[in-house]
Amino acid sequence: MKYTFVTLFSNLVEGYFQDSILKRAIDKDILDINYLNPRDYSQNKHMKVDDTAVGGGAGMVMNPQPLFDALDSLKKDDKNVHVIFLTPVAKTFKQNDAKRLAKKEHIAFVSGRYEGIDERVIEKYADEVFSIGDYILTGGELASLVVCDAVSRNIKGVLGNSDSLSVESFETPLLEAPSFSKPNNFKEIAVPSEYLKGNHSKIRSLKLELSECKTKFFRPEQLLKHRTRTSYEK
Ligand code: SAM
Repeated sequence: MKYTFVTLFSNLVEGYFQDSILKRAIDKDILDINYLNPRDYSQNKHMKVDDTAVGGGAGMVMNPQPLFDALDSLKKDDKNVHVIFLTPVAKTFKQNDAKRLAKKEHIAFVSGRYEGIDERVIEKYADEVFSIGDYILTGGELASLVVCDAVSRNIKGVLGNSDSLSVESFETPLLEAPSFSKPNNFKEIAVPSEYLKGNHSKIRSLKLELSECKTKFFRPEQLLKHRTRTSYEK
């Protein structure tokens, strides 16, 4: 998978790929990370990329010209690039989007800054637009990384053990059961004793019960979905 981060601040993004799972995926040539700075395309003599809002309003807006030229050049290199804009007003990015996008070959993430991007750029170039939640960040770089990370772990070879994908939360309406690590008893807090007895069918049914409790507590609407689904399957 090739990713291109279209950003004024690539240094904010670069660090994330310098360690752990995504770095290993880059080393194995599964991921290829690129950067495109709209400022490099500015025709303004001071290389400006923003201006005051037409019609008034607080703050600066990213000009169309540097982004049009940057994105034209990106599309000229690869007409199949899938261009995603990050904006707080769009639909929220979900696990199903991550799985679907993992099948693409080249994704570009366009990050806004200041009060955002001139709407004409989004209208012309966006294949998709995502928010990562109902709050306002200072820029789209963190949001791009969130989407990129979630997509990447669904690409074959990125995770050491791909089994971990199938049992994770959001694969089914139920959240994943609580996990425990060694030692079995830490500061006199023990893991559920059933986990230690080696009876896999009992462990499975306890995990299901704990999954249901967790889902009821954190996401009651999901538990309803699970119950409707399982009663339909019976
Ligand atoms: N004025 C805009 C508004 O009220 O909708 C907010 C602009 S925000 C300060 C600057 C940039 O951060 C946006 O263009 C977008 O790229 C990014 N951003 C902020 N919050 C985001 C979110 N929740 N999800 C995705 N991107 C976000």
